[in-house]
Order: sequence, then C-alpha cells, then structure tokens
Amino acid sequence: MELWYTEKQTEVFGITAKIKQTLHTEQTPFQKLDMLETEEFGNMLTLDGMVMTTERDEFVYHEMVAHVPLFTHPHPKQVLVVGGGDGGVIREVVKHPEVEKVTLVEIDGAVIEQSKKHLPHIASAFDHPKVEVIVGDGFMHIAESHNEYDVIMVDSTEPVGPAVKLFEKGFYEGISRALKADGLFIAQTDNPWFKADLIRQVIGDVKEIFPITRLYTANIPTYPSGLWTFTMGSKVYDPIEVEEGRFHDLKTKYYTKELHKAAFVLPKFVKDLAGE
Ligand code: SAM
Repeated sequence: MELWYTEKQTEVFGITAKIKQTLHTEQTPFQKLDMLETEEFGNMLTLDGMVMTTERDEFVYHEMVAHVPLFTHPHPKQVLVVGGGDGGVIREVVKHPEVEKVTLVEIDGAVIEQSKKHLPHIASAFDHPKVEVIVGDGFMHIAESHNEYDVIMVDSTEPVGPAVKLFEKGFYEGISRALKADGLFIAQTDNPWFKADLIRQVIGDVKEIFPITRLYTANIPTYPSGLWTFTMGSKVYDPIEVEEGRFHDLKTKYYTKELHKAAFVLPKFVKDLAGE
C-alpha cells in the first residue's frame, strides 16, 4: 500500500510526497507535530500539516534567513532567533565569527527534541557555546527586551496558533524596541502566490516602523508555491548597499554575495506587492 503526505497549500491546491514511514507523531500543547521519512526530500518536519523543513532543501531557507541580515549588519554581535526550533538558522548563525551570542526562543520544546532526534544535520548547533536556548513565547521575549539585539530573525510558523501574533504590527514595534539603535530584523513572510494579502500587510506595517524596508526571495521547492519571501526592517543599514569588503568566505550551498543582492531584485508582480 502506497502512503502519500499531502499539504493543502490552499483549499483547492496542494503538494504531495510519497512517504517511506512515519517516524514520529504527537499532539504537543501548541500544534500537531509529524516527522515523516519521504522518498524525495528525506526526513520532513510538519507542524499542523504544514511543511516546516526537509533534509534535502532546508539549506536554502536557513542560509537566506541567517546570512542576508548578518552580512548586512557590519557588526552583528547579539542575535535573536524567534521560533527556529529545528535548529537550522542557529547552525548558520554560528558560522559568523563576529557573532558573540545567539539566543533562540522556541515556544515548543517538542520541536527541538524531535529535530535533534530525526534531523541531526539541521539541529546540529544547539550545544554550540555561543547558543542560548529558551523554550518560551517569542512574543513575550520581544516585549521584555529593550535595546538588546543587533539582529533579530523571526523563523516562525505561518500565522496560525501561537504564531498569529508574530505577524501583527505590535510585534514589529516590539522588535524595534528590542533592537539596538542600528539594529535590523528579518521575518519569513510566506509566498506571493497564495499569501499576497499577508505580505502586503506586513510590508505596510514594517514600513511605518523602519526607515529601510525590503523584501527578498528564495526558491524553496517544498514550501507553498516554491517562491518564498523574507521581509527586512532596518534602522540604518541597507541590505543592497553592503560593501564588497564586508563579505567573507562562508561554507554555503545556496547563499553567495552575488545572490545576496540578486535576491532583492523582484518579479514585477512581487515588486508591486511590496509597493516598490
Ligand atoms: N521554516 C519554517 C517556516 O518558514 O514555516 C519555520 C520553521 S520553525 C520549526 C517554526 C517554529 O516557530 C515552530 O517550531 C513553532 O513552534 C515556533 N513558534 C510559533 N509561534 C511561536 C512563538 N509565539 N514563540 C516562539 N516560537 C514560536
């Protein structure tokens, strides 16, 4: 008997993957957590039926979440990751020698536990000396932080359940307060094919708070539509004005200094969406 996992990306469209076996499934206090072994993409973490990350294509998202803001900021010493319980973003963050500390605030400890067990290549930096892990609500952590971080990365689930408030204007205002005077943040902001209204709302809110607001993209085959966006809000530094000398060698599979700038060149329908 064949087993297929299907994620309904809209009510009438989805993605389906042939499954070898279900490795783990549980209802945590926050969401339904499933770890699946797929034929095409290796082990796959889903939360509430949505693909979070897979062994085969995870590097795209985690490199683009981490390296674009960390090369944009000239001295990213204090870094915060909201969400990110699979560990992929902090694995990339600790590759930057300038980073002194990265704090990860993940609301669901089960995500960390199962990622360590079934996604060891992704969840490989939790014990790094520069990493602090807090199991808690990122919204509350931001509300309690002031003038503390150089870079903040919001690596959350889509705006469902505990992540709903991570896409609201009040959260971005809190991020601004949590950042230092020259700080910047990025947030994953879903896809322009099925979530155009969300992107329009987030961009509009961030523009009212940060002097520099930009959208960039990456290709992630297992995410809805495959075209993924990230929104950056920056108090001082412009991601497309990074000095050539700022880039240093880094072991990556997707990110390059050329792609850093190219990612901000948007297709016309996305440019219009971003109000650029
Ligand atoms: N790359 C994925 C994406 O783009 O959808 C996100 C992966 S990461 C596993 C998302 C994490 O955000 C989940 O582990 C979830 O538990 C966490 N999360 C959701 N709401 C949160 C909150 N309010 N505070 C902290 N973590 C939260």
